[in-house]
Amino acid sequence: MPAAHAIEKLRAALACLPGVGPKSAQRMAYYLIERNQEGARGIASALLHALDLIQHCRRCNNLSESELCPLCTSPSRKHSQLCIVETPADLEAIEQTGSYKGCYFVLMGTISPLDGIGPDDLGVDRLLEVLEEFVIEEIILATNLTAEGETTAEYLVDLLAGKEVARDINITRIARGVPVGGELEYIDRNTVARAINERQRVEATGETRLSIYSDGKGNH
Ligand SMILES: [Zn+2]
Repeated sequence: MPAAHAIEKLRAALACLPGVGPKSAQRMAYYLIERNQEGARGIASALLHALDLIQHCRRCNNLSESELCPLCTSPSRKHSQLCIVETPADLEAIEQTGSYKGCYFVLMGTISPLDGIGPDDLGVDRLLEVLEEFVIEEIILATNLTAEGETTAEYLVDLLAGKEVARDINITRIARGVPVGGELEYIDRNTVARAINERQRVEATGETRLSIYSDGKGNH
């Protein structure tokens, strides 16, 4: 393949990264090939290594190198408490407060109709399996206080209200200490800790704002 084609292919590959447009992708491609071949080889091998090794933890759905991640197997965590977050970065933000000792479930996203992301695209099925398999007493909904995060939290409350497996689970939502529109990842530790500590019980309304997903299958 002529060099120009190889560069074009690399540029197109880099442009799949979030926030990287065609111009930045081109700059990166030239930089890696022309200025930093060692760095480029490092990225290539680290990527392949990660793809081979990393899977989803069977319990928390976070990225893990083993079937169960170290957090889920830790004897010092309270396994009956399940804090539901959107992303691994949100989990990290809560961990950094040091004030939460329960376990997690990572959805790996939020319901976002504009982006075509419905409940089926999140780890909701896996969440229900976790509730079947493990004894959970409290679910803390710690999705962000953005429109998508709120919709996702409301969806989960309504979904769980209809499930026998969740009948005795106390469902709480992080407190509004987090500013409206706030994302845990970008909020200071004290505020995140307060939001967790001052969480409040929530009840299903049966009226998830996103009625198009009300059958739980994302069917319109
Ligand atoms: Zn885990």
